[in-house]
Amino acid sequence: MPHPQRILVVEDEQDIAEFLTLELEHEGYETAIAADGYEGLRLAEGDSWDLILLDIMLPGISGMEVCRRIRGFSDVPIIMLTARQSVPERVAGLDSGADDYVPKPFAIEELLARIRVLLRRNQRTQTQAEVLAVADLKINTATREVERAGHAITLTAREFDLLETFARNKNHVLTREQIMERVWGYDFVGETNVVDVYVRYLRNKMDVPFGDPLLHTVRGVGYILKG
Ligand code: CA
Repeated sequence: MPHPQRILVVEDEQDIAEFLTLELEHEGYETAIAADGYEGLRLAEGDSWDLILLDIMLPGISGMEVCRRIRGFSDVPIIMLTARQSVPERVAGLDSGADDYVPKPFAIEELLARIRVLLRRNQRTQTQAEVLAVADLKINTATREVERAGHAITLTAREFDLLETFARNKNHVLTREQIMERVWGYDFVGETNVVDVYVRYLRNKMDVPFGDPLLHTVRGVGYILKG
């Protein structure tokens, strides 16, 4: 038996936290609960986790701030739980470095599916090592290191997955729907503006500083990485 995967639940509402850990343990995961942001940070830093479920509304420091701070030391996949449905809130959540977010109330099956997608993606990138090259851009899928013209580029987990998807389809246009499906792993109908947000992050790191864009917009269709 492989070692069970470990999930940290950062959630102040005890009923929800207990429900989540019960369901997760039923699926074979090991879990721990942090009841506020500070405890969440302490546990995130002090132990190794395969994934973190992070509530956005927490006493002490907010889930977004916790996420930002975790990103200072870890690329662990983070799913944000949020009661808020507005686009600015979602963008802010993604901006703080979360890989995904699930609005409350959520269906447990959907949350479990999203957890599996993130865990599977992490495993896949750990086992299939290769270096993808696009023009002067190099993407190491084992170490998840990216460099362009010899300069290291630091990407979040999701940005890396997006870039890897473009690189594996270089010189082919991908539609927003294809990108959603391949990078986010499930059908995110009507949410494709998330793709645009992430493409912007990616460009700011891998194109803008170099003045020679590789990632191009195909108006009305999607995006293409050319090289
Ligand atoms: Ca809460």
